Amino acid sequence: MTKPKIITTGGAGYIGSHTAVALQEAGFEVVLMDNLVNSSADVIHRIGRITGKEPLLELVDLCDEQATKNCFSKHSDAVGIIHFAALKAVGESVAQPTRYYRNNLVSMLHVLEAMHQHNIPNLIFSSSATVYGQPDVLPVTEQTPLQPAASPYGQTKQMNEVMIRDAVFAGELKRAISLRYFNPVGAHPTAIIGELPLGIPNNLMPFITQTAIGIRKELAVFGGDYDTIDGTAVRDYIHVMDLAEAHLGALQYQLNGSQSESYDVINLGTGLGSTVLEVIQSFEKVTGINLNYRIVDRRPGDVAAIYANVDKAARVLHWHTQRDLDEMTRSAWAWEKYARETLGL
Ligand code: NAD
Ligand code: UDP
Repeated sequence: MTKPKIITTGGAGYIGSHTAVALQEAGFEVVLMDNLVNSSADVIHRIGRITGKEPLLELVDLCDEQATKNCFSKHSDAVGIIHFAALKAVGESVAQPTRYYRNNLVSMLHVLEAMHQHNIPNLIFSSSATVYGQPDVLPVTEQTPLQPAASPYGQTKQMNEVMIRDAVFAGELKRAISLRYFNPVGAHPTAIIGELPLGIPNNLMPFITQTAIGIRKELAVFGGDYDTIDGTAVRDYIHVMDLAEAHLGALQYQLNGSQSESYDVINLGTGLGSTVLEVIQSFEKVTGINLNYRIVDRRPGDVAAIYANVDKAARVLHWHTQRDLDEMTRSAWAWEKYARETLGL
């Protein structure tokens, strides 16, 4: 029997590669479309080592209209698309706004046009908690009003959501879900795939693991004077494997006809907030390493605290997170060591 085909744009990246594993293990055929601007082709071999089958990688820049059309024509039998492809560094987006608007908006447009042309009915989109800004009330639900985005990156996520919603409401696209991720961290339990930021990491977890392995001298903890239990900022960290499984749940929700709203928005987090110091303490506990860190000034643009209400994900996707903060720090560290010591990355 032929397996249902899913296209994952940006599928060679961090969240896409973990989702490819979950999709293949659930019996889907996965085609990755990626221009490798922030990833590497060898990830398909590593996905193959985990699942026993390498997914097909189509090298395509989704901003190239003709190349995107050609690629979708080859895979017009896909039953769904998960659109991960985007540039995602907040600080870089402030410095290079036009590059971010071009990449994240034009690629989205081409994906929507291709889906319309080929009547591909189901879209899942990688949105972000960044669309909420600093909300007045915590935890944030899907009804929490969106704040003006603090960066061009955040703007592109808000705009992408609007583009998708309008395409669905006009009937150009049958159904779509925007998944608003909170803070994805961690790696596959085999440690064969994980997050490998290029250059100096912006995010907390890779900065912690790179400091522990000796690539960075010291972790700067941004702000010790927030109104939180220990003065450091609170985020909702979610294990990337839980996130991958949520994509599978969202896809099944679409494919089995349960999606009642043609356009839907769902938060994906744990529902729990952790401070930066709690993440460090978890890392030190599971690894036995004393991390070299220092509390410095707040990072401009950071919110003090944000965490998700995840009742909707539980209710409609029947999805619950399975992995706690210790599992996140443990797997992130196992991947850092494997990437450096075995893969030589
Ligand atoms: P990533 O950079 O590892 O993966 C994104 C992939 O998209 C990369 O492989 C990159 O090469 C590809 N890509 C970018 N532009 C492309 C283009 N024009 N054509 C083809 N491929 C292109 O990032 P990730 O962490 O896996 O994030 C996946 C998605 O989730 C992104 O949309 C991101 O904005 C969103 N998101 C990520 C986080 C996070 O903290 N990681 C949080 C919220 C939302
Ligand atoms: N953070 C930090 N030091 C770093 C990177 C991040 O203290 O080197 C803090 C940051 O201020 C925030 C939290 O860790 O409170 C998560 O930051 P990250 O950039 O990973 O995600 P964000 O929530 O900003 O998207």
